[in-house]
Amino acid sequence: MEFSTPVLPPPDERDLLWGQMGDRISSFFEELDTLPVAPEVDATTIRNHLAAYTFERSSPPDSIIDDTVDMMRSWNTQNAHPAYFGLFNPSPTYMGVLADALVAAVNPQLGVWNHSPVGVEIEQHLLRYFGTRLGFSSERIAGSMTTGGSEANLTAVLLALTRAFPEIGDTGLRGLPSQPVLYASEESHGAIHKIAHATGLGRNAVRLVPVSPDLRMDVDALERQIQADIATNLSPFLVLATAGTTSAGVIDPLPEIARLAEKFGISFHVDAAWAGAICLADRLAPLLSGIELADSVTIDPHKWLSVPMAAGIFICKDHEHLNRTFRISADYMPPAASDGVDLYTQSIQWSRRFTGLKLFMSLATAGRQGYEEMIERQIRLGDELRQRLRSANWEIINPGTKLPIVCIRDATCFPDELIGSGTGAESEYYETVCAEIVSRGRVWISTTRLLGRPALRICLTSYLTTSTELELLVDELNGVREIMR
Ligand SMILES: *Cc1c(COP(=O)(O)O)cnc(C)c1O
Repeated sequence: MEFSTPVLPPPDERDLLWGQMGDRISSFFEELDTLPVAPEVDATTIRNHLAAYTFERSSPPDSIIDDTVDMMRSWNTQNAHPAYFGLFNPSPTYMGVLADALVAAVNPQLGVWNHSPVGVEIEQHLLRYFGTRLGFSSERIAGSMTTGGSEANLTAVLLALTRAFPEIGDTGLRGLPSQPVLYASEESHGAIHKIAHATGLGRNAVRLVPVSPDLRMDVDALERQIQADIATNLSPFLVLATAGTTSAGVIDPLPEIARLAEKFGISFHVDAAWAGAICLADRLAPLLSGIELADSVTIDPHKWLSVPMAAGIFICKDHEHLNRTFRISADYMPPAASDGVDLYTQSIQWSRRFTGLKLFMSLATAGRQGYEEMIERQIRLGDELRQRLRSANWEIINPGTKLPIVCIRDATCFPDELIGSGTGAESEYYETVCAEIVSRGRVWISTTRLLGRPALRICLTSYLTTSTELELLVDELNGVREIMR
């Protein structure tokens, strides 16, 4: 087979290529748990291999498939691995993988309703579904699918700015009489700083509110900060609460924060990028109580809902200001659809991929109850892991969450006199432990800092994880601790 120009191959060749790719993907899942979780490779090795790709002439497609699959297999941290206890990167749902292939094949343009009525309506259906699960009333739900939590949070900030300062779309920040400021906890995700930078608010406009010892936003400190800012002629316009912090999986006190937002007349956004998934689980959804009071919410299906990257959801209640934020018309665009929404007027994206299909097909296949089962199982495994770790003398330092993120310190061997001595020895210790564990390739974990001190962070991110991997993980931790003595 040889395509010397971009062509649609004849049917028998299409079948061959699908067969080859399908086989290679199947074997990938088959051998996944035997692969090292993290690759041992340096950039030079990869660059030398890539140097053969000069792109000057055509190459046989089957050899391109084989080589790229080999590269992905060898030179990648395997997020899909059942012993990847990592950042929020899941094993993808198989239906999500298939959906993404279908989207690539049909290549719909979701920016305008009349280019993909089915795509836009499927995504709106999903938005209404998730909005309703969060307790929003269905007539008021607006929003869009995003590339992830960062874009969803950016959208929340732009919307809140437009609500607070309707003239800002024309005059910009310089037209405002005072500097707008927003609030998020010290444990909030770092994306907010980039958003403040990108919007022109400036990074100083992000007021990081301290957390209580349980790692939740300190609401009294929030109120004091808002009052102090008003007293110095700043303009508070948004408080961003986190439901499921990235380091420790903790949920901010949403009802109390909502009350303060209302008291000061500012917008209330909940960043539930990871833990928003629990809205699908009846017994756990009450942990999100207060989220229904939010003006807007972020959920990342590419995290706990296990759809392939990239997929975020931005949901809000304020259609009017969303329209105002992204209003545009262009001569070359088709006229507005009479009964559908043109997403290029509702979001920062213009050309828009059909992000929602992988979520739609995954959710329709497993059903809400299937997801509920997965989430409940992961929570039980999290409890089991806590137990195993405690028995092995590891100290759990985020006991305030039920969710399956476990942050630990070594309860036995780190010399007390070095803690807080400012020598950095404690951080170095945990970084070394973590690097050693990762380099062995059997499990993957990370480090973080909580209340100023380092810790190891373990998150159950894969629906493939079982007790077997928990046992392996604790063995690895204990083994490396022994070496460090
Ligand atoms: C992951 C995460 C983000 C960023 O989302 P992306 O999808 O990586 O852009 C924002 N907030 C929280 C709480 C997160 O966990």
